[in-house]
Amino acid sequence: MTTQQDCIALDAQDPLRDLRQLFTLPEATIYLDGNSLGVMPAAAPARVADVVTREWGSDLIQSWNKNGWFAMPQKVGDKIARLIGAEPGTVVATDSTSVNLFKVLSAALHLAAADHPTRKRIVSERSNFPTDLYIAEALCQERGYELVLVEPEEIAGALNDQVAVLMLTHVNYRTGALHDMPAVTAAAHAAGTLMVWDLAHSAGAVPVDLTGAGADYAVGCGYKYLNGGPGAPAFVWVNPKHADRFWQPLAGWWGHATPFEFTPDYRPAPGITRYQCGTQPMISLAALECGVDTLLATEAHGGMAALRSKSLALTDLFIQLVEERCGGHGLGLATPREHAQRGSQVCLTRDEGTYAIVQALIARGVVGDYRAGDGGRHKDILRFGFTPLYIGFVDVWNAVEHLKQVLETAEWQRPEFNRKHAVT
Ligand SMILES: *Cc1c(COP(=O)(O)O)cnc(C)c1O
Repeated sequence: MTTQQDCIALDAQDPLRDLRQLFTLPEATIYLDGNSLGVMPAAAPARVADVVTREWGSDLIQSWNKNGWFAMPQKVGDKIARLIGAEPGTVVATDSTSVNLFKVLSAALHLAAADHPTRKRIVSERSNFPTDLYIAEALCQERGYELVLVEPEEIAGALNDQVAVLMLTHVNYRTGALHDMPAVTAAAHAAGTLMVWDLAHSAGAVPVDLTGAGADYAVGCGYKYLNGGPGAPAFVWVNPKHADRFWQPLAGWWGHATPFEFTPDYRPAPGITRYQCGTQPMISLAALECGVDTLLATEAHGGMAALRSKSLALTDLFIQLVEERCGGHGLGLATPREHAQRGSQVCLTRDEGTYAIVQALIARGVVGDYRAGDGGRHKDILRFGFTPLYIGFVDVWNAVEHLKQVLETAEWQRPEFNRKHAVT
């Protein structure tokens, strides 16, 4: 049996333990929702205040040059590149994940049409995050393609000479299941299919090597594990070998080769810059940079490999403690046990009360979230994200203790925990 004392000892040996100081964590909270909205970096308030008061308030329009505003999407993109195995100059921080997905999917369809004009399908996973499916569906309708949805074990079988693009999210938002990026990318390429990855639950959570995997396109989220703040700009990566072949349909002036010549015709900038559309949000980009810097701080402590070891140790411990201490309460595990198949979250199922249990835990300061099932293969889940930069082993122990008490006392049955809010 692992005790709370054992967990305190694990924290004392943790090479990443000091990085928790890079965050402003609310009092008496165990925050297991960094997969939905990352914690505020301690540096963010002063940095954002400086952008507002000095750069905007005093330098005004000169800031585009003087304070580096114009190059911010590339600057922050280069920092993100270090976390996802991308070359410098191949990532921009811009727009939202949904918008970036539209851009890369559209470019991928152009590329596929040039090389394989008869291929008219995009394949994805039925349990992919809905916005990804909605964007793909809308684009398919507009361009005369078909979106084919399959279960994870059916992906290999769905790849054939009809498939233009395979679009997957690397870590499933619901189950936390992790795809083998190099193997899936290789299978897609063997079938002549382009590979688009969504890294929303991977960037800053698990090691990613886009270059090593030879992927074609990727997008990802700024406000989850990158701690960039609510609505932070997302990012987009295009394999440099494709970047100059086509451009994306949101051909705004920030993607133009010479925006300040104000020409009436569009000429795309070389490389990833053409994946920008219009004027970018500087206050948000400054906050995102603070968030990305918290991850780059791991480089002095073993980097993403150390982060990954701790993440697996935290999720292993959580699974073990739930099974040891909360047995007999009908909890099931929806997340793979195999390390190679697990992201940085753990999802639990229960036939009854999942939403209310999450609410009761939040009232005790243990913040996870609830995701509704799909009425079929996927049940309702209690979802817990483990962000190794600011979560420790004793946090895991205490969270499981709260879960045990909520179940043992049936506290979750109180009416106030059974009222649904707009955002779950
Ligand atoms: C969080 C998430 C998104 C979010 O998209 P927005 O455009 O930021 O709302 C998209 N895709 C996946 C897979 C996600 O997990």
